Amino acid sequence: MRQRYLIALGSNVRHPRHGGPPSVLRAAALALEAAGLAVLAVAPVIASAPLGPSRRRYANGAAVVDSALPPRALLALLQGIEHDFGRVRRGQRWGARTLDLDLVLWSGGHWQDKALSVPHPAFRTRAFVVCPAARIAPGWRDPATGLALKHLAARLTRRASPPRAAPRRAP
Ligand code: AMP
Repeated sequence: MRQRYLIALGSNVRHPRHGGPPSVLRAAALALEAAGLAVLAVAPVIASAPLGPSRRRYANGAAVVDSALPPRALLALLQGIEHDFGRVRRGQRWGARTLDLDLVLWSGGHWQDKALSVPHPAFRTRAFVVCPAARIAPGWRDPATGLALKHLAARLTRRASPPRAAPRRAP
């Protein structure tokens, strides 16, 4: 049976062959296809501030793919691609990453086991995941909250309304 997945892509390290983080993400989208996934949409790459102690800026993106693979097999495939791009899993949790691929949403809804949680547990609060995802799959609903990606994106980017001036009182 065909499955549809939303994948988040991130990079904050230059790759010797592919170049800077935005080029790493473009190469990663091609690698998804080369690995046999049907890539249905790729979001424009955005730049985001570093998370944690790393000082390098991230490039972030998203892709919708179609595959016959079940979630755990897709995770293994994504980890193989990360490995091919030279991501090092040792050291700081938020250290430099050549390529980070996360499985964010799945057409089957929820998946939970020791190695994999879908939807990705942290994605709703991360504008750098939700905003690129909303560009390519605005109507895809998060099964946990029932909110579509475009609504989650609006919630994260909505500016706080300006504070109301206190009513003036006559002196
Ligand atoms: P990270 O280093 O933050 O990318 O986390 C990678 C680890 O998170 C891997 O060992 C995965 O097994 C686990 N993991 C759990 N849920 C997910 C998910 N939805 N997408 C990617 N990795 C996940």
